[in-house]
Amino acid sequence: MAGTYARQARQTQQTIHAGGEWREAVSGATREILDPADATPLAVVAEGDEKDTDLAVAAARQAFDGGQGDWPRTPVAERAALLRRVADLLVRDREQLGLLESRDAGKTLEEGRVDIDCVADAFSYFADLVAGEAPGRVVDAGSPDIHSVVVHEPVGVCALITPWNYPLLQASWKIAPALAAGNTFVVKPSEITPLTTIALIDLLVEAGLPTGVANIVTGPGHSVGARLAEHPDVDLVSFTGGLISGTKVAQAAAPGVKKVALELGGKNPNVVFADACATDEAFDTAVDQALNAAFIHSGQVCSAGGRLIIEESVRDRFVAELARRAGRIRLGRGTETGVECGPLVSEQQRAKVEAYVESALAEGAVLRSGGRRPEPAPERPESGYFYEPTVLDRCHREMKVVREEVFGPVLTVETFRTEDEAVALANDTEYGLAGAVWTADAGRARRVAGRLRHGTVWINDFHPYLPQAEWGGFGKSGVGRELGPAGLAEYRETKHVYQNLAPKPVRWFAG
Ligand code: NAD
Repeated sequence: MAGTYARQARQTQQTIHAGGEWREAVSGATREILDPADATPLAVVAEGDEKDTDLAVAAARQAFDGGQGDWPRTPVAERAALLRRVADLLVRDREQLGLLESRDAGKTLEEGRVDIDCVADAFSYFADLVAGEAPGRVVDAGSPDIHSVVVHEPVGVCALITPWNYPLLQASWKIAPALAAGNTFVVKPSEITPLTTIALIDLLVEAGLPTGVANIVTGPGHSVGARLAEHPDVDLVSFTGGLISGTKVAQAAAPGVKKVALELGGKNPNVVFADACATDEAFDTAVDQALNAAFIHSGQVCSAGGRLIIEESVRDRFVAELARRAGRIRLGRGTETGVECGPLVSEQQRAKVEAYVESALAEGAVLRSGGRRPEPAPERPESGYFYEPTVLDRCHREMKVVREEVFGPVLTVETFRTEDEAVALANDTEYGLAGAVWTADAGRARRVAGRLRHGTVWINDFHPYLPQAEWGGFGKSGVGRELGPAGLAEYRETKHVYQNLAPKPVRWFAG
């Protein structure tokens, strides 16, 4: 098998990497990682806690403050070359990593492979970005005797905490810029889906990253994550996850005045005007993309378009077709041929989704499709956490299911009559991660996009992102940005160096 990440170490619960060594948890505790398609164990990993976290932070600190290889002061070209080697290794191991991601997170194999492509793209992008930069920005101080330059330096030790829905992709959006900027880090993957992040550490080592620069602690949020957020030797915390955990991370980091970046949830509107459905072809595209918006990865996507906001005149036709097609989505184990949607990630996540659907029905929503667990079949055992793609019509903004992030395959339908009404509905959320507008009217598209209070707005599309473009949210969807130049800036301190080439007394004081 190509790559070293499938080494036996992974079978022996040595999934904590600190200071260049793979170790078990200090306590000896372990956790079974389950395959969400049938609830059987996929792997056993170390269940780290505060003690393991302290060891990993100490290793990252030492590596930053003067460790072997001196990563923070390594020339940018060398850092960029290392990131490119990582991208090449990811391409080499695409099949194994894609399969691992598919099984761990319950996504289809093709989605798993695409995730790995995107991870490689993130490493390549940040390599190119730093390699192409000027070493500093000279500022004209208005005098030939003054040399003034603004430079960037790494922040220090970064704690990187990630969720379970795009395990390696979310990690790469943090690890690649953190390394490009010259930081050292401790990553804490979700306790539910740590496997590909563990594998990535092996690839970083294989690419030649100096000892102690990359560290990982597997374990739960309340111990490992919380300790990372408050640790006095951590300089920056970058967190992707839910609003409640993100708030706790910000609180824990505040006394140490750490830099904090938060990528939180979303409640993302997909606004469809009637003119986007004027021809059969346009109608088919808008319905197809509404399905993609809501149900890809069973809706477990921070930018999932779970709120369809549609012009009243086309609602009935649109929702009928949407429900028909949602009912035909093939559910099953992600590795089975022909399967279009995998299971939810855990029993707990399915129970949460079921509770949202129940509350919606109790509040008057009309069920058009799904709303239940599917019949078991060979490709979807009863023990898997499957749930049918669900379309809830006649929803309104007071409903819990419309206000809160469901993070499952549930689409709610609201209607509008005017452009102002559409914008007001789309902005009526405490989140502000992403949203889309569908219309054939270019002027209206630009007007509405300009008024949406969301970090990403798609016009006549849903879901694509570009590594070159910043990703992040307005409102309670977060603080800071990932990807793009701002995604690198998160991992940097800015320093102004002002040099007087002809120093003289200033004579503010006579004596
Ligand atoms: P979560 O908040 O439960 O967990 C995220 C991570 O935080 C995990 O590693 C967890 O162990 C850790 N954690 C939990 N409590 C913590 C604490 N007190 N201190 C420190 N760390 C703690 O989220 P999840 O269920 O894994 O992921 C789903 C959420 O992630 C959704 O809300 C989704 O919208 C969000 N998300 C956002 C983006 C984005 O780009 N904005 C991307 C993916 C997922």
